[in-house]
Amino acid sequence: APSEFRYKRVLLKVSGEVLMGDQPYGVDMKTVDTIAQAVAEVVREGVEICLVIGGGNIFRGLSKAAAGMERAQADYMGMLATVMNALAMQSALEKIGVSTRVQSAIPMAAIAEPYIRRRALRHLEKGRVVIFAAGVGAPFFTTDSGAALRAAEMGCDALLKGTSVDGVYTADPKKDPSATRYDTLTYQDVLAKDLRVMDASAIAMMRDTGIPIVVFSIREDKSLRRTLTGEGTFTVIK
Ligand code: UDP
Repeated sequence: APSEFRYKRVLLKVSGEVLMGDQPYGVDMKTVDTIAQAVAEVVREGVEICLVIGGGNIFRGLSKAAAGMERAQADYMGMLATVMNALAMQSALEKIGVSTRVQSAIPMAAIAEPYIRRRALRHLEKGRVVIFAAGVGAPFFTTDSGAALRAAEMGCDALLKGTSVDGVYTADPKKDPSATRYDTLTYQDVLAKDLRVMDASAIAMMRDTGIPIVVFSIREDKSLRRTLTGEGTFTVIK
């Protein structure tokens, strides 16, 4: 990647809720297209991108468990939801000429490659976007943990968390207008203050591997590129 980029290989985590756009549920293809455009822009400039998409727009294990379903079973359904989102994202990227592969932590040979670390690395070297589906492939985890694990396995320079706000704030900026954004935080700050950026297990894994987490708004135009070049507004956790 050209030197204007701070990071050469990144993992971008987008939660399922972001894909809903303004809909109450499911996948808003206009929103998926917008994210695909942002990814395409930086891939064409040589940045290597891994993607992890959540599933909360379709199914969240914990809430169905609360309603009486066995937790592990509900979590497997949640993992299937992430596969659907991965296929939607693959479709949007391929439509605009970006070469992609989906690798699923739960083998589903007819629609995706199984997760094979060395094969995923090869795809990245060839400039393909690798979309990691089904989280870590085990219940009682989340796609945040999946994102952290794959970021470490792929040797990413950063874990980018694309959200609907442009960083981590002292309070919810949508409810409290006096909230201010942190420019930087330590992993320990996030864990000790329980800032709910990502799961504690994901934060701990990034702390142990030293990979910075960058929280930014994926909803704003050009924000992915601007985050990668350091021009935008975001919070870095390191
Ligand atoms: N899930 C899981 N193991 C994983 C990843 C996901 O059990 O490794 C399940 C879990 O039920 C979760 C759901 O899949 O609620 C959707 O993922 P997540 O909540 O992380 O999606 P997001 O909040 O990012 O949209």
